[in-house]
Amino acid sequence: MAGKFLDSYDLPITCPKCSNEFNKKVRELNTNPNIACPSCGQLITVDMKKINREIKKMEESVKKAGFRLR
Ligand SMILES: [Zn+2]
Repeated sequence: MAGKFLDSYDLPITCPKCSNEFNKKVRELNTNPNIACPSCGQLITVDMKKINREIKKMEESVKKAGFRLR
């Protein structure tokens, strides 16, 4: 699996209701992309397709930077 490093990456989420900003681990979002805002309880569904695209991009730049992903 190439995702080990990015599994524990904190993804910044902004609540569409109260604009509260918080972080969720990519691993947690992969398990359950439906999260509740810790401030107002608004249910937020994270678009994992979009997220995974971003993760791919990050993985590539990480590889370019010379990190070893295992
Ligand atoms: Zn909120």
